[in-house]
Amino acid sequence: MRLRFEQEEIWRAMMNASLDAVVTIDAQGRIVEFSRAAEEIFGRSRESVLGRDLAETIIPMEFREKHQAGLRRLVETGNPSILERRLELAALRADGTEFPVELTLTRLSGGKRLLFAGFLRDITQRKTDEARMRLQTAALESSANAMAIVDRGGWIEWVNPAFSRLTGYSPGEAVGMHTRILKSGRQSQEFYNDLWETVLSGHVWRGEMVNRRKDGGLYSEEMTITPVIDGQDAIRHFIAVKQDITDRKASDEELHENRAFHRSITEALGEIGVGLLIIDADHRVRFMNPVMREWFGDQTHKICHASLFDSATPCPYCQIAGVVKADKTTHYRPTISDGRVFDIVATPIQNHDGTTSVLEMFLDVTEQTRAEQDLRIAAITLESQEGVFITDEKGVILRANRAFVEMTGYSAEEAVGKTPAILKSGRHDAGFYAALWGELGRAGHWQGEVWNRRKNGEIYPEWQTITAVTAPDGAVTHYVSAFSDMTKRKEAEERIHNLAFYDALTQLPNRRLLQDRLRQALALAERSGREGALLFIDLDNFKVLNDTHGHDVGDLLLIAVANRLQSCLREGDTAGRLGGDEFVVLLEDLEPDEPVAAARAEAVGEKIRAALSQPYHLKECNHCCTASIGITLFRGPIRTADEMLKRADVALYQAKGAGRNTVMFFDPALQATLNTRLALESDLRQAFSGGHFHLHYQPQTDGAGRITGAEALLRWNHSTRGAVSPSDFIPLAEDTGLIIPMGQWVLETACMQLAAWSNDPATRELRLSVNVSARQFRQADFVDQVLVAVDRSGADPKKLVLEFTESLVLVDVEDTVEKMRRLKPLGISFSLDDFGTGHSSLSRLKRLPLDELKIDRSFVRDIATDPNDAAIVQAILAMARALGLHVVAEGVETELQRQYLERHGCPAFQGYLFGKPGPAEELIRGNRGQ
Ligand code: C2E
Ligand code: MG
Ligand code: MG
Repeated sequence: MRLRFEQEEIWRAMMNASLDAVVTIDAQGRIVEFSRAAEEIFGRSRESVLGRDLAETIIPMEFREKHQAGLRRLVETGNPSILERRLELAALRADGTEFPVELTLTRLSGGKRLLFAGFLRDITQRKTDEARMRLQTAALESSANAMAIVDRGGWIEWVNPAFSRLTGYSPGEAVGMHTRILKSGRQSQEFYNDLWETVLSGHVWRGEMVNRRKDGGLYSEEMTITPVIDGQDAIRHFIAVKQDITDRKASDEELHENRAFHRSITEALGEIGVGLLIIDADHRVRFMNPVMREWFGDQTHKICHASLFDSATPCPYCQIAGVVKADKTTHYRPTISDGRVFDIVATPIQNHDGTTSVLEMFLDVTEQTRAEQDLRIAAITLESQEGVFITDEKGVILRANRAFVEMTGYSAEEAVGKTPAILKSGRHDAGFYAALWGELGRAGHWQGEVWNRRKNGEIYPEWQTITAVTAPDGAVTHYVSAFSDMTKRKEAEERIHNLAFYDALTQLPNRRLLQDRLRQALALAERSGREGALLFIDLDNFKVLNDTHGHDVGDLLLIAVANRLQSCLREGDTAGRLGGDEFVVLLEDLEPDEPVAAARAEAVGEKIRAALSQPYHLKECNHCCTASIGITLFRGPIRTADEMLKRADVALYQAKGAGRNTVMFFDPALQATLNTRLALESDLRQAFSGGHFHLHYQPQTDGAGRITGAEALLRWNHSTRGAVSPSDFIPLAEDTGLIIPMGQWVLETACMQLAAWSNDPATRELRLSVNVSARQFRQADFVDQVLVAVDRSGADPKKLVLEFTESLVLVDVEDTVEKMRRLKPLGISFSLDDFGTGHSSLSRLKRLPLDELKIDRSFVRDIATDPNDAAIVQAILAMARALGLHVVAEGVETELQRQYLERHGCPAFQGYLFGKPGPAEELIRGNRGQ
């Protein structure tokens, strides 16, 4: 019993000493003993629970049934003393809270009753620790950092999956493995010594090392090794945490380089005004350089790309989505709302995370676009008549227009890249170009005449303007050069010059130019002492050709003569045309010896004469023509151009006088004659205005000797010379045009005479013939002049006969016929004077409404002695009869002549035989006298 007691006491003491709660129950589950620790853990006193059902007291509701079933099973079976070991259960405190307990159940043997003792341990803390532990482990397991627990000897005790990923060793392989397996050999022994020293002394080691993976590859890691100090202050384990820095290591170096590279590129681009923008696909701006900020302000920092351009609406310019989608560099040029134009090159860039950003480079091309536009406009304007080319500041041709191509012969492709030197003609010296550039530099503009060379070598003049184009800072950026081909203008100028100085028909120098050259030649001869000569050339009977074949043919002759003249000359000699059929040749640089020079000049004169006398073939007709030539040498005291011309003219006059087709030298004696002629001309004018003219009348008679009419002949009573013959002054009057008022006066005076005669029965039937000059007849108002004269005088037009010569008829038959037809109805008659001397053909004469022919007195003179003249007169008479024309024989002086004419049927006569020209009174007297 003692023992029992003792045993019971020991048990109780043990029970109360136990840190675990000890609860003893009987086979029915009633609480028999409740230890001190139990009181504490469950929050109940021993007294309050003794005898109570365990299940109901400390076991939560959901475990009670299970507990009771288990207890029944233990009672019925169970021999072993320890029935349950470390059974985890939930228990209930007095306050109703549950907590985890660990139960070890034991059968108490040796006693009277069947008892069970339960050792219950509160494992709340353990459970919490376990849960934390699990979490921590999970955390370690899932950590991206590789971790390992290593013992003092370097053997691996634990690794996490990241370690396996890093090293290639699975946790199974790694645990139990020595860490030296990982050594790469890259670190020195000192490195490891230092590491171990650090950790073994209880310090954390941090550092980088290169290790070797299972597959042999190397990797860089950043490692932290922490020594684990246990309860005995001993270090038995180390925790190694590793981070793979292979990529970072590699990219660090790269990055360092890249960053510098990028920075310099970015700066350089910024420097040259390129805006840089890195923008995400969702339009977030990641980066922008200062240029962009300057352009678009700060608002672009974190906002949609759209706001770069226009803040309100979705950006119509943005092409980011397109660039990302197409995944290729795209170039676009939007014009934004404020008018600025940007060239944007957008390049997609791949980010690490798989997204795409876009790198955009912005170039402000507003100015350039404007300039391009201006250029386009300019280009259109430049497609003008003017040649235009644009060069850069160095003078290299950048573009050239079509007119340039047309003018220079160079294509735009050929010209571009070259300098305008390709156009240089070589006609301008370096000074010219220096002046050009000087002016261009000073004024920014130059214009002037430049001789350039076309591609085909042709040299041509152009009017060129060059304008320097400057940048805002004043520096020249371009030159624009516009030029017009002056060839045409030059040609026009030359034409005008020619008109002024050259004869339009023959292209020979005209009077003005000749006088000029003559002056120069005289001055030169004076200085050199060498002789010169002036030749005056006049075509003989040119007037006749002109009158018979018309001016066209006459012109052709003049051209032919000009050509022949030139062919006779040396270089340096000059041929010119003074007008009409008058030509001049200027011989220079002849021998100083006068007779030699004269002989030379004469030889040239003869050569010309011979050349000009060769037959001409002019428009279907052959023509023969001679020339008279007067020559004067430069010698003599008065050496003026006018004097020379006068002398040559005198010589010519002499040549003409000598029977034409002759070369004559100037004879001072002829000067007097010439002077007379000139004096006569001025006298003539004065005489006419002074009323020194009057008419004489020469009778015309019929076969019976009766006076039937008269011819009015103009007379000039010169104050000093007495009576001047019409043969002397009529040609002069015709030359000067004085014949027109003169002829009008004759016509009026004659008509008045007719009217006077009509009042006298003795003269009432007389007809009056009036000579009409060709020039007078050609007057447009000639018919009116006649009508006026007739009307004013009251003369009977039926008594008026107008005489004219063949030359008049032949120049313009139509006009002549027309005028005659208009006068004819009045009763006016027409007579052809001096018939037989001209070149009239019968057919032409037939067309004229003629009434009368006057046989020229040259035929009449020798009619009795020259059978040719007799034959001509007979022919004229026969012809006149056939045409029904009246005939008057002129210059009948002898009875013999009269008889011959009468015998051959001449009906009328005029001549000294019947009466000389005289005043009207004499005629009447003579008539009365019959
Ligand atoms: P024409 O018309 O043939 O006139 C006749 C010319 O012969 C006149 O000369 C006259 O005096 C001259 N004559 C007449 N009978 C004889 C004669 O028997 N023997 C000689 N040797 N001569 C005779 P004139 O008066 O000296 O006139 C010369 C020419 O001047 C005229 O030739 C005529 O063509 C022209 N003429 C005269 N008066 C005028 C005039 O008023 N107007 C125009 N346009 N011409 C005139
Ligand atoms: Mg006459
Ligand atoms: Mg006559």
